[in-house]
Amino acid sequence: MTLRAAGGFIAMRGKFVVGNWKMNGGLAVNAALLSELAAGWKAEPGRQIAVCAPYPYLGQVSAALRATAIAWGAQDVSEHESGAFTGEVSAGMLVEFGCRYAIVGHSERRQFFGDTDAVVAAKTVAALAAGLTPIVCVGETLAERDAGATMAVVSRQLDAVLAAVGERAAKITVAYEPVWAIGTGRTASPEEAQAVHAMLRARLARSSAAEVSLLYGGSVKADNAKALFAMTDIDGGLIGGASLRSAEFLAIARA
Ligand code: PEP
Repeated sequence: MTLRAAGGFIAMRGKFVVGNWKMNGGLAVNAALLSELAAGWKAEPGRQIAVCAPYPYLGQVSAALRATAIAWGAQDVSEHESGAFTGEVSAGMLVEFGCRYAIVGHSERRQFFGDTDAVVAAKTVAALAAGLTPIVCVGETLAERDAGATMAVVSRQLDAVLAAVGERAAKITVAYEPVWAIGTGRTASPEEAQAVHAMLRARLARSSAAEVSLLYGGSVKADNAKALFAMTDIDGGLIGGASLRSAEFLAIARA
């Protein structure tokens, strides 16, 4: 979660649930979903929820959520500030649409759109420079897990970002999303997820960022959220498919 402060937002450890709509939605279905979320969520100290919508709908999201306790953000951001980068959207543009967050390094971006560790680090820096809170995703593939490389892979991904952001590490949010659990219905057990989160937290502590929110993502549903969120180092979730259904998303947020 974040607190507004001069010069941007400060990431703070707290219960935080973020919906990633991915490339889903449309004006009519978004309107219904947003009004159900707005009606169903009241501000609660220490708890924050947000939705990350496709770029074209950010104006609609902003209009629908402006007067609510729900924040919003984008699913990606350009590493560049402006210029001849056709198809890209800058962090400054996202701020103009009231975005507080930008997801960076989602595994689908890493897998299908060539987002390397270096690109993810550059996008994180660009988001921070504009005052956004980047939600930095890390996670291993099934082959990497089976090879016993989970810790090495996620620490390599996080370290690339930490090296680039330097003293601003405390302003990021991190989401651990095992690739094999995204959209598959297969979830890491609370203990498996906690083991990775504890390692990430220790690594963040070396950058004076032990208190950032650490989210888990990967087939989180209302019926498994409580056990996951009860773990010491799991502060909330990044929710894909289940964030498209208001009742399910709100039940996860309350878990
Ligand atoms: C995601 O896209 O970040 C995600 C976690 O998806 P799902 O919840 O559908 O597995």
